[in-house]
Amino acid sequence: MISSRPVILAHGGAGSKRLTPAQATCLADALVIGYAILEQGGSAVIAVECTIGLLEQSGLFNAGRGANRQLDGVQRMDASIMEGERLEAGAVASIEGILHPITAARLVMEETDHVLLVGPQATTFAQHYQLAPLSGARSPRRHAGRSPVSAAAARTIALYRAMLKSKRPQKDLHGTVGAVALDHCGTVAAGASTGGVDSMLPGRVGDSPLIGCGVYADNQSGAVSMTGIGEGIIRLVMAKTICDRLARGTSPAVAARQVLRLLLSRISGSAGALVLAPDGRFVIRHVTPHMAAGWWKGIGRPTVRDRFP
Ligand code: ASP
Repeated sequence: MISSRPVILAHGGAGSKRLTPAQATCLADALVIGYAILEQGGSAVIAVECTIGLLEQSGLFNAGRGANRQLDGVQRMDASIMEGERLEAGAVASIEGILHPITAARLVMEETDHVLLVGPQATTFAQHYQLAPLSGARSPRRHAGRSPVSAAAARTIALYRAMLKSKRPQKDLHGTVGAVALDHCGTVAAGASTGGVDSMLPGRVGDSPLIGCGVYADNQSGAVSMTGIGEGIIRLVMAKTICDRLARGTSPAVAARQVLRLLLSRISGSAGALVLAPDGRFVIRHVTPHMAAGWWKGIGRPTVRDRFP
C-alpha cells in the first residue's frame, strides 16, 4: 500500500466577486474537516464529500442552501463526485429540494450501476436515502434591473420571457463549490456542487455534473474540479483535458495554464481549476478576476485566498 502525504483543496467559485470574511472562514473550516478525515485514514472521496457538504450547508456559496435559482425561480442543483482508483463516479443534475446534492452524487456512485441521475427522479432517489431537505434556503432573489446583465444573459431572459411571457428573478452570484483530495492510500478524488449560473433557462445543466467536464479523477493522472461558466468548460471537456496532460508528464501548473489559455483563445470562456497530481503536487489557477479557494496539508492554518496568480 502506498503511504501518501494527504492534501485537500477546495473552492468557492471563480468570478468577479471578492471573497467575504465569512466565506474565507467557511472555506478554511471545510478544509480542516476534509483534512481531518484524510489524516485519520479516511478516503479521498469522503473527504471531498464532507468538505463540499460544509460549503453546501453554509448558505454562503452558490450550492446547497445558497443555490442559485433558474429563471422560473426554482433551485435546480447539479453535483458530481469521482474517485481515481477504480474510476467510479456519480452525479445528479437538476435535483431539487435536497440540502446535499454531493451526497446524492456519492450515493449514485455507490448504490447504483449508473453515473448520472437527473431531474425529479434524482430528487426521488435522494429522498429514498432520506437525505436532508433544503429548507430555509438563502438564495437571494433579484430582479433584472438591479444589476448589470450581460448580453448573453439578456438574450436568455428575453427568450424565457417570450417562452412564458413572464418576468422572473435572477442574481449575479458565482460561488459554486468543489474539492479535490489525495488520501494516505494514494487515491485521488474530485467533486463539485452548484446552483448553476446567472439567468438560466429552466432545465439548464452546466459542467458540474458532467464527468470529464466539471470533475475528473484518475490515480494515473490526477484530480481536477472546475468552476466558471459551464458552457465553455463543457465544450473543452476541461477536467479530463487537464488530466490527460498530467498523464503525459505535464506539471499541474503548466497543464492548468495551457487548458485555461485554450478556453480563452478558442471560446472566450471564463473558469478556474483545482488541479492535483497523484504525487501531491497541485495548483489553483483561474482566468477570472478572482477565485475563492484554498488548500491544506495539515501544517499551520489552511491557505485561503481569492487570487491565485
Ligand atoms: N460551472 C458552474 C455551472 O456552469 C457554475 C460555476 O462554477 O460558477 O453551472
